[in-house]
Amino acid sequence: MTPDLMAAGAEKLAAWNARAKADPSATGLEPSFRQGVALYVEDITVSFDGFKALNNLSLTIDVGELRCIIGPNGAGKTTMMDCITGKTKPDSGTVFFGSNIDLLALKEQQVSQIGVGRKFQKPTVFEQLNVFENLELALKADRRVRASLFSRLSGEQLDRIGEVLTLIHLKDEAQRTAGLLSHGQKQWLEIGMLLMQDPKLLLLDEPVAGMTDEETERTAELFLSLEGQHSLVVVEHDMKFVDQLTEGRKKVTVLHEGSVLAEGLLSEVQANEKVVEVYLGR
Ligand code: ADP
Ligand code: MG
Repeated sequence: MTPDLMAAGAEKLAAWNARAKADPSATGLEPSFRQGVALYVEDITVSFDGFKALNNLSLTIDVGELRCIIGPNGAGKTTMMDCITGKTKPDSGTVFFGSNIDLLALKEQQVSQIGVGRKFQKPTVFEQLNVFENLELALKADRRVRASLFSRLSGEQLDRIGEVLTLIHLKDEAQRTAGLLSHGQKQWLEIGMLLMQDPKLLLLDEPVAGMTDEETERTAELFLSLEGQHSLVVVEHDMKFVDQLTEGRKKVTVLHEGSVLAEGLLSEVQANEKVVEVYLGR
């Protein structure tokens, strides 16, 4: 490429990045997953009053991968999700969605619009609305759909809600008021609401905390069915759940003091002396 072409290209890219920063949905900014990477975190550091909640944390999640993250309380797991979703800006480091989207340049709402869904620990569904209406609202809140809250659902949208109801095991509860659901069902509904926006990457922070054993098992089945279509990052303490999700062959990441302490099969990290000392041996 000639130097002037390169300069023109760089100028275009800068202008495009500036527009993307203002409003990614307006630019049609699309993440590119051609290189097989869904999320690329490199060397992020976050300090709170001099205390490093994250300390040069690096992590790569492949397209369609289901990755479990474990580690003691205070290891920085939630802070890591805060950095990916734009809630907290790290002091330094890089966070990319796909190979082309600099997530650190985006606001929290933009990160969610571009295809990163996040599930917080506490379920936040609309308690007064029924299950179906919660999903309908989530669908219409998607700016790409541009449906008004009062417009009728298209056949396609109805089908999608039906699909999600089946996935989250709430088909028979569609007309039930969300406030009357069990804790586990509320968690599923919230996951369903995230799915209505078809996120490429799903971040799930302690999704089975407070669930019964049966609900936990069904949640693992749900996540396994999403794997491949979506990339999932699951933070969890429940080792039985992690074991079910990793199926004896997937990598888990152990965080400790804001960095990756170990990475490997669950059986490998469970046998790792450092991991036993700081986490599993408690
Ligand atoms: P985890 O989710 O792994 O339990 P967190 O990411 O919540 O850990 O917290 C990591 C560390 O950062 C903890 O020591 C926590 O007290 C601290 N921390 C998190 N958020 C803040 C904040 N907003 N202000 C000060 N300290 C914080
Ligand atoms: Mg946490």
